[in-house]
Amino acid sequence: LHKFPVRAPSRSALASSAAERSRSGLGSGFRYLTGAATGWWDRWMVMGASGSKLEKALGDQFPEGERYFGLENFGNTCYCNSVLQALYFCTPFREQLLEYYMNNKNPGDAEENLLTCLADLFMQVSQSKKKTGVIAPKRFVQRVKKQNELFRSYMHQDAHEFLNFLLNELVDILEKESSAAKDSPQSSSPEKVPNGPVQPLANGVKKEPPVTLVHKNFQGILTNETKCLRCETVTARDETFFDLSVDIEQNSSITSCLKNFSSTETLNAEDKFFCDKCCSLQEAQKRMKIKKAPHILVIHLKRFKYIEQLGRYKKLSYRVVFPMELKISSTSDDVDTEYSLFAVVVHVGSGPNHGHYVSLVKSHNHWLFFDDENVEMVEESTLQTFFGSSHEYSGNTDHGYILFYEGLGAKSLAISPPPWEIV
Ligand SMILES: [Zn+2]
Repeated sequence: LHKFPVRAPSRSALASSAAERSRSGLGSGFRYLTGAATGWWDRWMVMGASGSKLEKALGDQFPEGERYFGLENFGNTCYCNSVLQALYFCTPFREQLLEYYMNNKNPGDAEENLLTCLADLFMQVSQSKKKTGVIAPKRFVQRVKKQNELFRSYMHQDAHEFLNFLLNELVDILEKESSAAKDSPQSSSPEKVPNGPVQPLANGVKKEPPVTLVHKNFQGILTNETKCLRCETVTARDETFFDLSVDIEQNSSITSCLKNFSSTETLNAEDKFFCDKCCSLQEAQKRMKIKKAPHILVIHLKRFKYIEQLGRYKKLSYRVVFPMELKISSTSDDVDTEYSLFAVVVHVGSGPNHGHYVSLVKSHNHWLFFDDENVEMVEESTLQTFFGSSHEYSGNTDHGYILFYEGLGAKSLAISPPPWEIV
């Protein structure tokens, strides 16, 4: 785990690439002014100006019932804001969360947790009378800081760590609520079960953990296979995941990163594998396969790499092309899942220790750029400016960091591909 020293977030994300600077001249200039402003008048001006600007840009194409709100930054909380926007525009997740919240909200139960804070925030945005504006996610951020000391400081935080923390925390809350609901008979008072959620059933069979809305949306299954090179026995172990963290290479693409992710790795020398059949350490081959592809595929690009010679983390600004459409084959049912990109969390800055996060989101076929309070419409081609750089020292430091793809439904394959391959 890496910690980051203090630095104010860079406010010039959009302006930092030349193409964008010329395109959005007025908008970013205005943004510099509002960044320094503190009064209510200035805040009102931000809402008024950016709101009407976005509404004007969309005109009568403004999607029915949709809301586009910027999120206030409380001092380096852009890691949080960028992820929140990506999750909000993950429509099945948003809808299921709000539905769950409406059905399970108990007015007498004032207990606040991350789930209620997140649902409240989503509700505040989606139920807003205004179509655009700025919302302060104060209670949510306070709750995050209360819950996890890692996020308590004003230091630059890692958006991927935050996403992980948030999803796991939501799972914990949903599982606890589900088991509390099952364990308490209707007649008894709705008190919390004091001692842990897992209780074996009468016949000794362990209860299956409930499938939460986080699982439904984000969970996939990987198979980790190890083949002993002496006796050729294959040991397979399944692992679940909410996101895939992939190593990146210069001038590559997400497709090749995913191929490398599931390519065969040889375990030898210091790194041998203990084979149960041979009862000894043996050379082995290891590979990861996607057994079940998730509905929402989250790909984390490992841009922060520990460099031993330097004794610190370094940001890799490599150019990694991410496509709008992606195909993943999973091994369990021999199907290809087609995915469509709908959100990108971008890290802005040259190093791991400071910088800024912004996000790009696709909503009703329009791409929107969220930079804390500011929301703008952008062309799809703008996404190319976030691929990275072919040479190390480039002025553009805005790089795609977390990608969100939504599955468009699985297609059965007439001819099965080789089970190893991720297309
Ligand atoms: Zn063996």
